[in-house]
Amino acid sequence: MARVEIKEISKIFADHNAVNNVSLTVEDGEFLVLLGPSGCGKSTLLRMIAGLELPTYGDIFIGERRATRLQPKDRNIAMVFQNYALYPHMTVYENIAFPLRVRGVDKQATDAKVQWAADLVGLTRMLKRKPRQMSGGERQRIALARSLVRDPDVFLLDEPLSNLDAKLRHSAREELRQFQDRVGVTSIYVTHDQVEAMGLGDRIVVMQAGTVRQVGTPEEIYLHPADTFVATFMGSPPMNLVETDGLTLGFRPESFLPAVGFASDIAVTPITFNVHRVEYLGGDRLLYGNVMGSLPNTAAIARIPSSVAYTPILGSEAKFAVANADLRRFDKDTGKAIEQHKPVENRRAAYV
Ligand code: ATP
Repeated sequence: MARVEIKEISKIFADHNAVNNVSLTVEDGEFLVLLGPSGCGKSTLLRMIAGLELPTYGDIFIGERRATRLQPKDRNIAMVFQNYALYPHMTVYENIAFPLRVRGVDKQATDAKVQWAADLVGLTRMLKRKPRQMSGGERQRIALARSLVRDPDVFLLDEPLSNLDAKLRHSAREELRQFQDRVGVTSIYVTHDQVEAMGLGDRIVVMQAGTVRQVGTPEEIYLHPADTFVATFMGSPPMNLVETDGLTLGFRPESFLPAVGFASDIAVTPITFNVHRVEYLGGDRLLYGNVMGSLPNTAAIARIPSSVAYTPILGSEAKFAVANADLRRFDKDTGKAIEQHKPVENRRAAYV
């Protein structure tokens, strides 16, 4: 295990600046997620940590070692890609044992190591099978076990779940997180899927156009986005943004509720809302409409639990409100957050 330190790293391809002066520290044993839209530079950053790309500027330290110019094989890292590249003609055992065979490790030591890794990922009973007889999630575990036998200091994972279907992806995500908790190896995980990032990461790094927009725990990033890019990139539907005279006002759909439901001791900002469409999602309903009245007419979305007895009258103005603690303010010109609120501890309890 090791701490990873990235110091002022940039990567310039021809005239394109794919990664622009990024500095990050990944703590020993931490699960860090690099998140951002397609083309933001997250894979390039990961590939530089792996040693598959040379940085144009900057330095990378893995543990105490300066690794910037080390060959991938000398960094003691393990990479798991979307494409697991298992050997189809080999059994699960042989696939996992492969890196040890290449290193010339003797049979007894190999056996012990494979059993240990298979046990950690829950494949002990499947060692004699071939990959084609296994599910996508199980194949992913073979790839993990295969990287594990090398005792890596750092796991680098580039969208390893993206070729699984939605249900499998969910369980594979859970397994991956449990696995990392057990093994405790420093892990850096690339994804463009914010749900995956929120579910997996101890901390998330939100990237855009080669730069880091925000680094924080999932809660910090969701509740206190550093700027309007993060505010709208995280969350589905995204944070509502309304441009008022002096600044940009932000509130999440689930904080935007019919005014009648707020507990009387909660300070709220009333907002007039004209709903024109309702989308039923099961546990919640999404109300699409426009805020108006004292605010400039702007499209917005409210998310209301289906259990709340509220029936909107389509096309007419209704009184809604946002708890003041849930309002966010951003600089109109730079988009940067102006202040950091402490959120209402129990958001649902504020609404009765
Ligand atoms: P995705 O989620 O689509 O994989 P990403 O955030 O991982 O995107 P990168 O693969 O890191 O993005 O690419 C960042 C930018 O650098 C992109 O604009 C890409 O076109 C460019 N790029 C990546 N590799 C090269 C290369 N070898 N030569 C030139 N440009 C490259």
